[in-house]
Amino acid sequence: MILIIEQVGREWNLRHPNGPRISINDISLKCGGYFDWTQPSPGHHSSHQAGRDADLRYVRNDGTESNYTFNLNPPHPPGYSQGLTQDLINLFCEAGVTTIYADNDANLQQPSGCTITDPGGHQNHIHIKISP
Ligand SMILES: [Zn+2]
Repeated sequence: MILIIEQVGREWNLRHPNGPRISINDISLKCGGYFDWTQPSPGHHSSHQAGRDADLRYVRNDGTESNYTFNLNPPHPPGYSQGLTQDLINLFCEAGVTTIYADNDANLQQPSGCTITDPGGHQNHIHIKISP
């Protein structure tokens, strides 16, 4: 996953040298396991244990790099860039990501070789996954 993120980051910087920068969160712990081992919570970031998953922010179009959150129901707040987010998703799929969890209202087109689905809970981030 780290190699994919670095590859996408290089290409993103070539395409968007003036930003916005991409934001990656919650890949996995260096030694694996649940993020909060004092209170193991299998439902929270349960797949972020082997370095094959990461979370991304939706890309904004308002000149900020802060987190964007879809409302549970439309209308959604301004600031979301479907075009920039689609470009980011396309780059990750070209680099080897196989599955993407995103909010249905992000209206992302599924690139070839990639599956985009909405399992819920992704109003404020995109989850990317590579197959083992
Ligand atoms: Zn995630």
